[in-house]
Formats: sequence, structure tokens, C-alpha cells
Amino acid sequence: MIKLGSHISFKSPGYLVNSVEEAISYGANTLMIYLGAPQNTKRVTTEKYFYEEYLEKLSKIIPPKDIIIHAPYIVNPSNPEKSEFAIEFLIQEIERMNYIGCKYLVLHPGSSLKFGSELGLKTLIKSIKKILSKTLEVEIILETMSGKGSEIGSNLLELKQVIEEVNDDRLGICLDTCHLWDAGYDIKNNLNDFMRKLKNENLLKWVKVIHLNDSKNDLNSHKDRHENIGKGFIGFKALQNFLFHPSLEGVITILETPWVDGKPIYKEEIKKLLAKEKEL
Ligand code: FE
Ligand code: FE
Ligand code: ZN
Repeated sequence: MIKLGSHISFKSPGYLVNSVEEAISYGANTLMIYLGAPQNTKRVTTEKYFYEEYLEKLSKIIPPKDIIIHAPYIVNPSNPEKSEFAIEFLIQEIERMNYIGCKYLVLHPGSSLKFGSELGLKTLIKSIKKILSKTLEVEIILETMSGKGSEIGSNLLELKQVIEEVNDDRLGICLDTCHLWDAGYDIKNNLNDFMRKLKNENLLKWVKVIHLNDSKNDLNSHKDRHENIGKGFIGFKALQNFLFHPSLEGVITILETPWVDGKPIYKEEIKKLLAKEKEL
């Protein structure tokens, strides 16, 4: 079964209940939330989540493990000067996830800045080991990045190195189609080659989440600007093929596409993408 949903806001008054109801109204069977604003680390206490009500009313429709949590962008576990803060914050974020029973925490690997990619990667590996050693159950899912500035993770081999050195099942990869494309992976014209490469590098089995987005820019632009499905350079067909690729069967897929005229169009995008299911 295809698992498809979108980014949904998580806010007062109903928190979990509102978010899951909104996802269901889009025809989604999964969703991704930030536990506060993506740009900051302010978080409300778990008592405010309306967890009991969610559990009673909605958890049979979308269970906790199908609610993806995205860490805020501003934590940087790759920067030696910022990693202590990132570790402390992410441990608490995972404890909040444990309260709900969520499984996957999507994390941007961060930027190495003046320290260079080698020290950045080393710092990232150390940060992840520490977070995993101090938490339970939740898996940290590293997102592929577009390669803006000194971002780590635009090259799949960097993520491979992290996975091999951390060597823990509580680690995974999130493939973001906009980021892959912007980083130079041609998933439009050579999707099968890309999947073969993932398999040969032993990375395929680590893929736990997909972010399905079109891109406002051409291949290898390193810009990271998401576009609505079918409105960008990757195009509808290629993104639908990605979603239905047999190598990625059952992997949770999340849309992070822009709003149009002040509102999300996830419902339309989900409907169009799933139209293929009827053909199969
Ligand atoms: Fe992300
Ligand atoms: Fe993403
Ligand atoms: Zn992005």
C-alpha cells in the first residue's frame, strides 16, 4: 500500500487531534509535523498535545508510527560549536516523540561552515552516537540535502559514511526528491540507475522516509526551492514514478510543496498522484 501524506502544522487549539484530522481530510494515511516552529526550538509541554483524545479517536486511522516528526532546521549537529546544544535539544525532542509513540525523526545533517566537511562529518557522527545512546526507540532519519553552502548530506556517500560509522539500526535516510535533483541526481531521466546505485551502495534498505517535492530549479542548481508536484523541473510523471517505484514499496512519503493562494493544495496533489493506483 502507498503511504502518502504531507507536512501539516501542529498548533493550538487541538495539536495532535487537529493535525491528524487535517491529514485525513486530504486523503492522507500519514503526515509530518514539527513539534513547534521549524525555525526555533521553543516547544509546548506534551500535556498540551491532546494525546489521549488522538489515541481514542484517530490512532486507528493514522497510528503514531505513521506520524513523522521533523527536527527544527536551526539545530546543527555538524558544527563543533553548536553540536552540544543540538544534542541536548534533540534528546528532549525524542523524549517528546516517545510520549506520542512516534518512530521517525527527520533531521537535516547540518552545515560544516568554516570547519570543513571532514570535521563536520566527524562531529555529526559523534552527535548522533551520543543522542542514540541517551534515548530509546526513535530512529534518526538523515535527510539528503541540496548542497546549499556547506551543507552536509548532498552526496549520498557522506550519508553512507555516517551510517557505517554509527552502525546502529536506529538510523535511516530520508530521500527528498527536490534536494536530490538540486544536488545533481537525475531522478527524472535515470530513475532506475539511481535506484541501482542506492542498492549497490547498500543504502536502499536504510531509506525510511521520502519527501516528494518538485523543484523550482534545474538539475544540479543547489538551490533548494520546492515547487508543487508537476509544476517544476522534475515534473509529474517522474515524481509519480518515484512514488510507485517497486524499490521503495511501503516507504512513508511526505509532500512539502508550497501553498497556493494562501492555502495548501495537498488534497489535489495526493489525489492526482494516487490516480495511478487504479490503473495498476
Ligand atoms: Fe527537511
Ligand atoms: Fe525535505
Ligand atoms: Zn528543502
